[in-house]
Amino acid sequence: MDADVKALEEQLAEGRGVLSALTEGLKKLGDRLAAERTQLAASDKQRGEAQIDLRTMLTQIEHSREKLNRSRTERESQAAQRELEELRKLVRDREDELTRVETENAGIRASIETVEGEHKRVQEELNAKKDDLESKVAQLEADKNQKGGGRDAIVKRLPPVLYRRYEQLRTKRGTAIAQTTDGTCKACNMALPPQLFHKLRREPLIDQCPSCYRIIYFTPPEPAQKVE
Ligand SMILES: [Zn+2]
Repeated sequence: MDADVKALEEQLAEGRGVLSALTEGLKKLGDRLAAERTQLAASDKQRGEAQIDLRTMLTQIEHSREKLNRSRTERESQAAQRELEELRKLVRDREDELTRVETENAGIRASIETVEGEHKRVQEELNAKKDDLESKVAQLEADKNQKGGGRDAIVKRLPPVLYRRYEQLRTKRGTAIAQTTDGTCKACNMALPPQLFHKLRREPLIDQCPSCYRIIYFTPPEPAQKVE
């Protein structure tokens, strides 16, 4: 009975471990998403600024062209042409920058999409595992109550000294009970003193293994299977 509850509790602990690993993974993905979204916002801002700059420069180019058309002297004309050249160079630089920012921007968007997909997948796995674990916890509680209810009744019938010894052994060794069939303790595999083994076999009584101190009793060997 206690071994069953222990096995269920171990299963539960393992489930909780998986769950906390998934939660941690999810948090890392969430952090990465937040960082990349911040990066994207900065990139969007840079792109917007470059676009505004470009429009302003194109308007300035229009003005320079008009100035060139209106110029009456060679000097005026040359000055307007130089201005136009300067502006065209600035426009080319800004256009290059815009291309670079847009490439970077597309990269960040693609990465965000990938991470979002991964985040969604882990979230779904976590939800499924959580449901699974919750039903296991409910099952364990039900089992414990059922087994525990029966257990309480059994404990009341045991001599207190024996029950205390049982609980001490269970805490220390995991299991408190051992059987013997052939003169060795099935828990620790040590040979029992012959007199003890004879006594256990002859009378329906319990004693303690002198090696591991588990509560020990005799079980007859399995009857040999009849071969047909
Ligand atoms: Zn033993």
